Amino acid sequence: MKIYNTLSRTKEEFIPIEPGKVRMYVCGPTVYNLIHIGNARPMIFFDTVRRYFEYKGYEVNYVSNFTDVDDKIIKRALEEGVDSSVISERYILECKKDMEGMDVRPATTHPKATEEIGGMIDMIRTLIEKGFAYEVNGTVYFRVRRFKGYGKLSGKNLDELESGNRTLLVTGEEEKEDPMDFVLWKPKKEGEPFWESPWGQGRPGWHIECSVMSKKYLGEEIDIHGGGEDLIFPHHENEIAQSEACSGRLFSHYWMHNAFLNINNVKMSKSLGNFLLVRDISKQYDLSVLRFFMLSAHYRSPLNFSPELMEAAKNGLDRIHTAMQRLKDESGKGCTGEESPEEKEAVQAFVARFEAAMDDDFNTADAISVIFEMVKYANTLKPEEVSEAAWEDVRNTLLKLADILGIKEPEAELLDADIEALIAERQAARKAKNYARADEIRKMLAEQGILLEDTRDGVKWKRA
Ligand code: AMP
Ligand code: ZN
Repeated sequence: MKIYNTLSRTKEEFIPIEPGKVRMYVCGPTVYNLIHIGNARPMIFFDTVRRYFEYKGYEVNYVSNFTDVDDKIIKRALEEGVDSSVISERYILECKKDMEGMDVRPATTHPKATEEIGGMIDMIRTLIEKGFAYEVNGTVYFRVRRFKGYGKLSGKNLDELESGNRTLLVTGEEEKEDPMDFVLWKPKKEGEPFWESPWGQGRPGWHIECSVMSKKYLGEEIDIHGGGEDLIFPHHENEIAQSEACSGRLFSHYWMHNAFLNINNVKMSKSLGNFLLVRDISKQYDLSVLRFFMLSAHYRSPLNFSPELMEAAKNGLDRIHTAMQRLKDESGKGCTGEESPEEKEAVQAFVARFEAAMDDDFNTADAISVIFEMVKYANTLKPEEVSEAAWEDVRNTLLKLADILGIKEPEAELLDADIEALIAERQAARKAKNYARADEIRKMLAEQGILLEDTRDGVKWKRA
């Protein structure tokens, strides 16, 4: 398996630290608003990476954080007159809903920065002890020039950075030993959340959180660190400096960065205001279409959002779903007998080509082409002309490969009679005071898009 490593700027063979295991950390969102479809790109892509490793038999420990302390969260909290945890908790919940809609599986662990402050203080203390950090008036800075490898990820040269930074120096930062030094801990300001520390009350800088959470949940050395390419500098460069200065070991063996999701060829971002929320898209499309759209391009190529491309993604996905539906409906109608070696070979050839695409730095665009070819092949089969074994092999293999990309067999729609039977069961459960079962039924129906309304004339329902 080959992975393009931003660190070496080449495709490298993937060799895990521990055979059969993958330790992967992906920087998660700052939770002060609903996520936009640019934020969705790394979520969808790295979820696919994880699924492919699992398909290959790896055990994946996948960690992705929520940044729940940050200037923007604090600003929003002040605007609404609530505690910043109210804002972050609200948007973590909303983000999880969007992830579920896009079929992004929960990570093994989703740590929150505010719950890891102790670890951050410990790491900052170690950095000070080792001479990599210093405190001035309650602020702790990382001493960039002390870390010899600084710039190795972004390819930036310290002297160029230095001249750029001199002009960018903001007020209050004159106390830094060097304009390039970055903040590890900052003193509290009125009205902001704060924690006690050896340097007074304050809060951590952004970069330190990922170094600490990655170390705590995955260890000092990890296989893969990912995120969008805007994070290469300074965030990931600073993470490397902190982690490697602290442990003396290589932090992450592979660095993977997705390119931007653009709109009118400009990066989609909250600050530019040119964003579309995942929630907006969900009003028009099932989010499986958004997922399919994202994977239709290679992750290192910029992807320009357009309504036409979304429509094309919808049509493509429909084609796959239709084939899956037919394979399901006609299942069991085949003739008896074995799958012939030629039939087996045809299916295996699709598997080999799909794997070759994914093994080549997760080329999901090519993997989707293979799925389309397999769909074309499946559509030529007639149940009465092939054995049941051959039919099932095509069906199961297609489902297995498509699942890596998050494409699922369409769910059977509930019939009106089934819905009414479930509603009757729910009423009976309520009468028997079995509220757990009654809620379970309501939830089950909601997941199928059936909404219940309790009225005086009984329960009414509608399809969402
Ligand atoms: P943020 O909440 O801005 O820290 O972003 C969370 C994640 O989304 C990071 O991995 C970013 O690199 C990524 N991201 C943000 N905007 C885009 C975009 N327009 N295209 C691709 N990735 C993005
Ligand atoms: Zn990070």
